[in-house]
Amino acid sequence: MIQNPSIEQYLNCSFECGCGRTHKSLFAHYIFETGAIAKLPALLEQLGYKRPYLISDTHTHKIAGIKVEEVLGKAGIPFASHVLKSPENGDLAADEHALGSVAMANDKDADIIISIGTGTINDLGRYFSYITGRPFLLVATAPSMDGLVSGVAPLIFHNMKITFPAQEPLALICEPEILAKAPLKMLAAGAADILGKYNCLLDWKLSHIVNDEYYCDTIAGIMGTAVDRTMESTKGLASQDSKAVSVLTEALVLSGIAMDFSGNSRPASGAEHHQSHYWEMQFLFDGIPAVLHGTKVGIGTVLMLELYNTLAEMEKPDFAAIRAKVADRLSTEAWEKEMHRCYGDGAEGIIALEKKAGKNNVEGLQKRLAVIEERWEEIRELAKTAPKAAEISHVLEEMGAAKIPADVGIPRQYVYDSIRYGKELRDRYTILQLMWDIDRLEEEAVKLVEKYCN
Ligand SMILES: [Zn+2]
Ligand SMILES: [Zn+2]
Repeated sequence: MIQNPSIEQYLNCSFECGCGRTHKSLFAHYIFETGAIAKLPALLEQLGYKRPYLISDTHTHKIAGIKVEEVLGKAGIPFASHVLKSPENGDLAADEHALGSVAMANDKDADIIISIGTGTINDLGRYFSYITGRPFLLVATAPSMDGLVSGVAPLIFHNMKITFPAQEPLALICEPEILAKAPLKMLAAGAADILGKYNCLLDWKLSHIVNDEYYCDTIAGIMGTAVDRTMESTKGLASQDSKAVSVLTEALVLSGIAMDFSGNSRPASGAEHHQSHYWEMQFLFDGIPAVLHGTKVGIGTVLMLELYNTLAEMEKPDFAAIRAKVADRLSTEAWEKEMHRCYGDGAEGIIALEKKAGKNNVEGLQKRLAVIEERWEEIRELAKTAPKAAEISHVLEEMGAAKIPADVGIPRQYVYDSIRYGKELRDRYTILQLMWDIDRLEEEAVKLVEKYCN
């Protein structure tokens, strides 16, 4: 059993766990130190690569790309460098246009792809290296999201966000001075993405209780410790303190490792992420510039923790009455109509997922209701361990991060729909599905919109 939260022991490791599985992480080189970029030539030599293709954007090129080029140049390592043009307002999107640009500037003789950036540039490099059969290395410029170490790439294709298979970086290079100088809104977004784990770990445990889904205490413990440490560091982030930045970056890296261990994104993504994904899709449909991922996750976390806080105080529902009313739920036809209203072009995919997963079918619902009734006290005890939504909201405010939907322009209707139908995005049991199971989701959605969207 691993208890020390230090990250070194989780690099390139494999261990037999009390949960009965062997957990593995292939991610091996995490270099977080002053002068880390200067170590790049030696690292490339050690790994056996001779000719990198560098990808950055106008901003990240200035922040770290120029330094990478100088270091490689001095060491006599040949390289190609492609700087994507950042838009005047908003951020570069990881879409087919940007990917096309990376492909058209490709150096086919390069034997490794190095991304210099954190969000879009990281996703593009991770995916492009994967489809061209070359390894990937990341020089991070901001601790703003939890995909630093991740084996998948969320990309925008035909205005839809789709998660494509990709690969983890062989190495992650971070200079604390560069990360600490990232704009405060990026540091706050990274921290908010980590605070979201409070909710997602509850969702995971909840599904373990209701559906007997696989759950691992060790993985949840690693993530839980990382979240607690980040929570303690949020004040330091506001003053761009490098120790706080180190704690946050480590938590973001650990999210990736925890996903390696569990073999899916369970330890890092629950209903709070579904809220974020839902709003992001609506912004894409509407052509509104994107908001940082972690910023939206922070807002989603406050809303989802409200649901846990409500659950903690809830009287045991009248299960016989719920069962008697099962037939009154939305008909398939009415539900599909709602999916078309909410998801537009994406509705067919959502409907196909429901056909496969059957989240809303009567047999599954009845089975879950039986377990929820039997284990009601245990579920309430779990809900009581949730942090108070107001506490997380306060921490977000102290960091200068968005805490309510209006702070980033998310309209009332989108909030209602994301609470009511965000659960349809994935086949993943969360607090939203539990509220739906006990026939409270509609009522709670109305209450939350009243409280947070006025
Ligand atoms: Zn385990
Ligand atoms: Zn995230």
